[in-house]
Amino acid sequence: MTVIRQQDFIDSIEDALQYISYYHPLDFIQALEKAYHKEQNKAAKDAIAQILINSRMSAEGHRPICQDTGIVTCFVKVGMDVKWDKTDLTVQQMVDEGTRRAYNNPDNPLRASIVADPAGARKNTRDNTPAVVHLDLVPGAEVEVMIAAKGGGSENKTKMAMLNPSDSIVDWVLESLPKMGAGWCPPGMLGIGIGGTAEKAAVLAKESLMDPVDIQQLIDKGAETAEEKLRLELYEKVNQLGIGAQGLGGLTTVVDIKIKSVPTHAASLPVVMIPNCAATRHVHFHLDGSGPADIKPPKLEDWPQVTWELGSNVRRVNLDTVTPEEVQSWQAGETVLLSGKMLTGRDAAHKRIADRLNKGEGLPEGVDLTNKFIYYVGPVDAVGDEVVGPAGPTTATRMDKFTEMMLSQTGLLGMIGKSERGDATVESIKQHKAVYLMAVGGAAYLVSKAIKKARVVAFEDLGMEAIYEFEVEDMPVTVAVDSQGNNVHKQGPAIWKVKIEEMADAK
Ligand code: SF4
Repeated sequence: MTVIRQQDFIDSIEDALQYISYYHPLDFIQALEKAYHKEQNKAAKDAIAQILINSRMSAEGHRPICQDTGIVTCFVKVGMDVKWDKTDLTVQQMVDEGTRRAYNNPDNPLRASIVADPAGARKNTRDNTPAVVHLDLVPGAEVEVMIAAKGGGSENKTKMAMLNPSDSIVDWVLESLPKMGAGWCPPGMLGIGIGGTAEKAAVLAKESLMDPVDIQQLIDKGAETAEEKLRLELYEKVNQLGIGAQGLGGLTTVVDIKIKSVPTHAASLPVVMIPNCAATRHVHFHLDGSGPADIKPPKLEDWPQVTWELGSNVRRVNLDTVTPEEVQSWQAGETVLLSGKMLTGRDAAHKRIADRLNKGEGLPEGVDLTNKFIYYVGPVDAVGDEVVGPAGPTTATRMDKFTEMMLSQTGLLGMIGKSERGDATVESIKQHKAVYLMAVGGAAYLVSKAIKKARVVAFEDLGMEAIYEFEVEDMPVTVAVDSQGNNVHKQGPAIWKVKIEEMADAK
């Protein structure tokens, strides 16, 4: 019988969550580096470069890779021969205690993103608890933990289907993936769970994402099982879709496909697909009773030394003097460097603005959006001499339902976020001769370095969802929808799908 100390378990959870907040798994980074060298679409290559540079900066600075520091998801496998030194806390409570400490760490506070009463008040629990814990009793005398911090943008894109046994899983994936848009911040991975029941397939899909990136080893060795054949077929065909980094079109959408399956009912074929984003974060450890887990930091020299050249045709924009006429000359796909003042706002702030406007109360005091840009972001709290913590863009699609109101009633010139906009929103942007700019999701620490001043101007009680005024210097963005309605998220993947087909034909 091995005795595991409760405190060792809690300390290990805390350490693991701090570790994954700033260290990408090295296998993922090496796969991204490969994708970077292979990429032929300049916009997608630039996006991967920003993700890699951001990753190195986070590893060096011990600050979060992404402003969304995730929902904690933890697989705990407890050996049947394990005894706990104390029994006053359940495994769920121990994971929550480790989570609480990790997210409130004063040296590297992580963003608390969990809301209680999700169908009602949606009140932030302030310490990112509770975690999602999957507990198994297994043979042996150890405790094994696989822990991840899963971003909301990628989790939101999960797909589930109860297929007919004769249906093709490949067809379902290839049909579903383009509809998921870019809110899951590709390039990443797809975890696919097959079999069991609906909920079992979902857990398998999530657990599969804890496995290392090893598709190249599988390509080299060749597929032997049905699962391995499916992995290879999907890896090739998903990348042939041309979605590319950040949905800009390109050669790499996924760096691996992971699959787990279990037996199922003869009448059923449950399938769940969960994407993992550019901020893939997980670590594994074992406890054998000898103390807390010793999670070794990676060697920084293993991180690629990627540089990012802006090129000569970059447009520099002064946000304090920019005019509607100027905005109308910007072209979809152009890189723009923003300097000056912008306001921030995401889901909760937009909802409150909508409520105020509907009641005829106008914008809150201190908020004037005339000829201004709004940045969809919920930053991490600052530490030390930081102006703001990591502050990358959040998924713009969620703000689509507010965009017509914002453009028609506030004098707003444009928005900055990540991923695509819906067709009605693109039409609205065109009608108001506005613009939608895209920053790279998963490059939050890098983006935060362009923010020189930050102050809350409204809705302070919303915490990270408050409206801030940021003063930025040379913040890089891409024109994703221009004032004529040209849309890089529609055009890029379509162009690269054809190019990839042509490349295959030419072989
Ligand atoms: S990389 Fe994108 S999907 Fe992932 S956590 Fe960050 S913002 Fe969310």
